[in-house]
Parts: sequence; C-alpha cells; structure tokens
Amino acid sequence: MDYVMIIDDSVTIRKSIELVIKNLGVAIKHAQNGKEALNVIKGIKESGDNLSLCITDVNMPVMDGITFVKEFRKDDRFTPVLMLTTEAGEAAINAGKEAGASGWIVKPFRTDQLIDAVKKFIR
Ligand SMILES: [Mg+2]
Repeated sequence: MDYVMIIDDSVTIRKSIELVIKNLGVAIKHAQNGKEALNVIKGIKESGDNLSLCITDVNMPVMDGITFVKEFRKDDRFTPVLMLTTEAGEAAINAGKEAGASGWIVKPFRTDQLIDAVKKFIR
C-alpha cells in the first residue's frame, strides 16, 4: 500500500485535503501534529508499506511542521514533504526548505493547486 500522510491540527483542513486527493487513488493516513505523524509513519514502514508523500501544516501544537520535517529527514531523505503555510513570506518558505521540505502551498489554497502539487510528487 502507498500512503499519503496528512498532518494538520485542524480536522476540517485534514478532511478537505483528503476529499481532494483521494480521487488520485492514494491511501491516506492522518495525524494532528508532527509527533503523532512520526509514530504513524513508523507504523507504516514497519508494516512494509510505502510512504509516498507527507503534506504538513506548519503551525501545530506538540510538534510543529518545521520540527517534524527535521526529525523526519533524519531517517528519510527522499520521501517528498509538501508544506502548507499561511505565510507567503520568503523567511517562512526558506525555513521549510532548510528543514528539508520539497515544496509548499500557501493557505488558503485552491483545489487545483493542491492536485497539481500532489501530482508532482507522487507517481
Ligand atoms: Mg495549524
């Protein structure tokens, strides 16, 4: 099974992302912060399944998106991470890039923007 991880503290946002990308034929797992995501990802990998993409919010309690990417990159250098940010500023985007993010989308995003970005990273 190929999974896409959706990480956001807002259940509404997680569900709206799922609604958009499930049409691309991917299996989806949710987490509400970076720490929970790392645990879910560990479970995916331990079951022999594949993680094809992480879509993560930046501002979350417990573990934010930047910290998540840094931690995730310690043992996965290749799986793409798409960041959802409310800040379009260069500083925020550079912080994401430096942490190891592969791309970003500025919230609120349009459905077609999200589909295009996800298609770019999964195959
Ligand atoms: Mg948030």
